[in-house]
Amino acid sequence: MNMIDYENAVFCRKCENYDRENVSLAVDRLLAQAGFGSDEIRGKRVVIKPNLLLAYAPEKAATTHPAVVEAVINYVKSYFPASLIIAESPGGTYNESSLRRVYDVTGMTGVSERTGVPLNFGSDSDTLSIPDGENAKSVQAIKPILDSEVIVNVCKAKTHSLAVMTGASKNLFGVIPGITKFEMHARFSDPQKFFGMVTDVNCELKKHRTVFSVCDAVICMEGNGPSGGNPKHAGMLFASRNTFSLDSVLAEMMGVHDETPILAIAASRGLIPASADMIAKVGDPVPTGLDFVKADATQGKKLTKIPAFLQPRPVIDRDICKGCFACVKACPQHTIVEKDGKAFIEKKNCIRCYCCQELCTFKAVRIKKSFIYNIIK
Ligand code: SF4
Ligand code: SF4
Repeated sequence: MNMIDYENAVFCRKCENYDRENVSLAVDRLLAQAGFGSDEIRGKRVVIKPNLLLAYAPEKAATTHPAVVEAVINYVKSYFPASLIIAESPGGTYNESSLRRVYDVTGMTGVSERTGVPLNFGSDSDTLSIPDGENAKSVQAIKPILDSEVIVNVCKAKTHSLAVMTGASKNLFGVIPGITKFEMHARFSDPQKFFGMVTDVNCELKKHRTVFSVCDAVICMEGNGPSGGNPKHAGMLFASRNTFSLDSVLAEMMGVHDETPILAIAASRGLIPASADMIAKVGDPVPTGLDFVKADATQGKKLTKIPAFLQPRPVIDRDICKGCFACVKACPQHTIVEKDGKAFIEKKNCIRCYCCQELCTFKAVRIKKSFIYNIIK
């Protein structure tokens, strides 16, 4: 009989819908099968870190569903942690009023009320030193994460304009406070360096803490994620102690494994095998043939080397733009300006980070592909 490698295996459990009882049963079995229990939880300071990108209702599939967060909390509580808190740094500003709105709309306020677990409203952050970082030697991180001994990373499965897909590892980029995340895109404008930095953050957090990931892939997002795509049913929950293993299996299910930059970086650093086939999967079979629609900005592997000016770029559809200028605040290059009451992208300085598309709740940011790009493709 093969021994299970609990550090790197991915545990998989069917969960067809968000009925609370159903999710609770599936989460209990999944986490018990993964062996997540007393040894790692009892007497520890535990933080629950969902994906709460923006103030979107759960039906949009942009954020971790409250039923999953609640079930995970109830499971963790049963093993008597010393303290438990729900904390996240969403996409916009990181302050009490923004957090309150995000928690209310995403269903986290209800989770907190039902479970008695507090939400973080503090906006303090500090330096996370990364002495062994290959791309970053330090980043800012929110205090509840820095103060924790255990991070339960309750992520959401989505396709993604920049990352191709997001699950466990990219959710830990969300420990960086508020708009500092946008600044990181300017500091690491080369996608290889950006995802190298995200890999550094993942490795550093794991070095001094338990990081246990649970992925809500019951209803995922496909298309222009992380915010502008459409819900896609996969009916699965995943769990792993290795964020990259989890993402590898998830990306394989979504049909984007070979195009996902962070997986190539993690494999090159020996953190996962190059292929998802070589990762142990325990539990229910992972669905195949789901045929996820990719984000418009996703480039095939062979296209990542083409010059920047030929790569897909964001443009603003003036007929849809409402002139709210959330994108202006999000742009790390300050290359979005106002023109006649609407937003306009001056393409010269654009680094194709797609933060503008991510932050536009009206889906007014489209991806334009040049004639030559379409021919090469
Ligand atoms: S965020 Fe969207 S709607 Fe608002 S100004 Fe930018 S493109 Fe227009
Ligand atoms: S215009 Fe959009 S894609 Fe370009 S740098 Fe600004 S936020 Fe990033």
